[in-house]
Amino acid sequence: MDTIDKAQLIEEFHRAEALARITTAHTPTTGAEHCRVCGDTIPEARRLLVPGTDLCVECKAEQED
Ligand SMILES: [Zn+2]
Repeated sequence: MDTIDKAQLIEEFHRAEALARITTAHTPTTGAEHCRVCGDTIPEARRLLVPGTDLCVECKAEQED
């Protein structure tokens, strides 16, 4: 019982932390909203994962080939 309570607390803590990170990430410093090559929308998850990126996944993969 105690372990589960602790696990829930830790989970809630991490969720709050992640939410705070996403909220503060809504700034221009996270990079372009659209790919500079094809103009596709870059998913927010990718922009958070790769801060400052201005390429979508497809174009980035082509560039690395
Ligand atoms: Zn692209």
